[in-house]
Amino acid sequence: MRYYSTNNRSSLVSFREATIRGQAPDKGLYFPASNIQIERNLIHEMESLTNEEIAFRVIKPYTGDTIPEEQLFSIVSETVNFPIPLVKVKENIFSLELFHGPTLAFKDIGARFMSRCMGYFVKNSSRKLTVLVATSGDTGGAVANGFENVEGVEVIILYPSGKVSPVQEKQLTTARKNVHALEVQGVFDDCQQMVKQAFADKDVNNKLFLTSANSINVARWLPQQFYYFFAYKQWLDKDHPPVISVPSGNFGNICAGLLAWRSGLPVKHFIAACNANDVLTEYLQTGILRPKETIATLSNAMDVGDPGNFSRMLEIFMETEPSGHQGFGSLNDHLSSSCISDKETMAIIKEVYQQFHYLLDPHGAVAFLSLDRYLADHQKEKGIFLETAHPVKFPEAVETATGIHIEIPSMIKDIMEKEKKSILMKADFKELKKYLLR
Ligand SMILES: *Cc1c(COP(=O)(O)O)cnc(C)c1O
Repeated sequence: MRYYSTNNRSSLVSFREATIRGQAPDKGLYFPASNIQIERNLIHEMESLTNEEIAFRVIKPYTGDTIPEEQLFSIVSETVNFPIPLVKVKENIFSLELFHGPTLAFKDIGARFMSRCMGYFVKNSSRKLTVLVATSGDTGGAVANGFENVEGVEVIILYPSGKVSPVQEKQLTTARKNVHALEVQGVFDDCQQMVKQAFADKDVNNKLFLTSANSINVARWLPQQFYYFFAYKQWLDKDHPPVISVPSGNFGNICAGLLAWRSGLPVKHFIAACNANDVLTEYLQTGILRPKETIATLSNAMDVGDPGNFSRMLEIFMETEPSGHQGFGSLNDHLSSSCISDKETMAIIKEVYQQFHYLLDPHGAVAFLSLDRYLADHQKEKGIFLETAHPVKFPEAVETATGIHIEIPSMIKDIMEKEKKSILMKADFKELKKYLLR
């Protein structure tokens, strides 16, 4: 299996190279050059397979011969070593709970898989790899946790001081050894800007072998297909595939679902559930992609005004079959999108808690409401929404909406007691550079 850049289809690299580079040198995103179709019997046998076995069979064609099977199986096992249950919320709506991993967010899956692949790829190399990443909250925790103790990889995470939730901050600043947290006196965009400058800086690149860990990386993007298969495994009415609603920001998650569907997973329809950041909704109406200033919302992990994975979405849909006709017809047939306001988010958290005793986080809430509205217009269908984070990660919104106090789950109590370790830094690339060249 080879990967091309969405900016240049003719320069092909292996899974190994795509993983280590993160983004293509021409600033495009790596995309699988062959249209993988999953083995037919995987769908029929699914219920008798373990999650590890399913994940292994899904990812194997994408890693090709870059990772030996035994090694790949153990990477996959460590990636999916927590439950991903499908829970009924109401008659026609089910929640796929992706928050039972170590940092209580779905990003654990991508981060765990990527960190272990990178660890494997640098194992016999003399050069240490430095992962440099800016986070607004969830990415950093998952990356810190995923890479902790991975040999040959040093991780440096920039986060905006005072702008992440208490649980998120502990997750960012309590991983040790090879993971370092830089607390930047600025906003997320400052952090991202500093990281960009580091990638462009000659001195830094002469000294360090830098790579990124954002959702652009194929090793983070592709394993997100796993749980779409796990959802189908738990879906009872196999004759009527589910509508799937995905809380979306940078569109990595939903693009993984679309790829799984293109490879043969039965899905009736996808909904890209968005907050006030409505770039995709506008695109589906007008056919024009217009990046915008980011709007801050309650579902802040989805506050993206210029979604990075958009070009992958186009690849998935616009790909023309060898025979010459359009592969999947128009995007609009298979994908809808919706924009949910903060007010609606708060109201639906309250309503779902009161009516169904189910606690949504703000991201899941956006997806739930989008699905609920879609199903009101499509009464024969049933659906799944992805619950991408544990409500405790967003206590203010959830407690205000419901009036209850959320208990911190036992699995993160330990982390709350650990001592925060971070290096305070001005929002200035010169300071970051000094640190990197230390
Ligand atoms: C990152 C994140 C999202 C958005 O995922 P994308 O792949 O960027 O669309 C949604 N919910 C939560 C909780 C997240 O952390």
